Amino acid sequence: MQLHILASGSTGNAIFLQLGGAKLLVDAGISARRVEKGLRAVGIDPAELDAILVTHEHSDHVSGLPVFTRKFGVPVFARRRTWDAFQPAHHVEAEYRRELGNGLEIGGVRVEPFAISHDAAEPVGYSFRCGDIKCVVATDMGCVSERVERDIAGADVLVFESNHDVAMLRNGPYPEYLKKRILSNRGHLSNLDTGRCLARMDKKSGMHVFLAHLSQHNNCPELALSTVSQVLERQGVRLEQDVYLHLAHPCDTVSFAL
Ligand SMILES: [Zn+2]
Ligand SMILES: [Zn+2]
Repeated sequence: MQLHILASGSTGNAIFLQLGGAKLLVDAGISARRVEKGLRAVGIDPAELDAILVTHEHSDHVSGLPVFTRKFGVPVFARRRTWDAFQPAHHVEAEYRRELGNGLEIGGVRVEPFAISHDAAEPVGYSFRCGDIKCVVATDMGCVSERVERDIAGADVLVFESNHDVAMLRNGPYPEYLKKRILSNRGHLSNLDTGRCLARMDKKSGMHVFLAHLSQHNNCPELALSTVSQVLERQGVRLEQDVYLHLAHPCDTVSFAL
């Protein structure tokens, strides 16, 4: 298993995952050129991707799709209502568009989308299973439902949102309507929410968690890491033993192999 988080945050998201015989990209919310460069830098030929899996239609997840698909001809999977909600600027040509059902099998990998709570048409997270390895990508969530808790349970590798620090957001520069949106059940997860969810979820010992989609205005990496660590430790979770915490980066590739 190889994971390369090419970018993560409100300025763009793209996550490459190689599992079994499948080479997959979750979202392409940075320029096609950056996706291509990022993949080549870790030795992946973009034309070899089996699929791009879209979580939702927000620009920071899809802006690179039109150029990337035209150049490399990779099929793109998204929920029907997500396709319907695409902005014209993110238009993907019909020949590359695929409707995402309840699950698919790619190169021996079982890919399962699951509903998340976010202010988009039909947003999803993804779980990937191959043999006894399970990876999950779940960002852009205002809250964690019981369903999501079941979907992330037992993951070996979890890319999970830790968007903001509530005090930084409340006292920060964002207009009131945006603060409300982010804090709502269909917004984004705070560091504290993330810590609590990780503490109570059904964990596989030694799991690796990548804190992702950190806000550049309302969070900082050290704070996300320390808040989540503190919540976990208070609940008796042993860091670097039960759970390994890592940070995704807004523009530098973060790589991991298992
Ligand atoms: Zn996002
Ligand atoms: Zn979003």
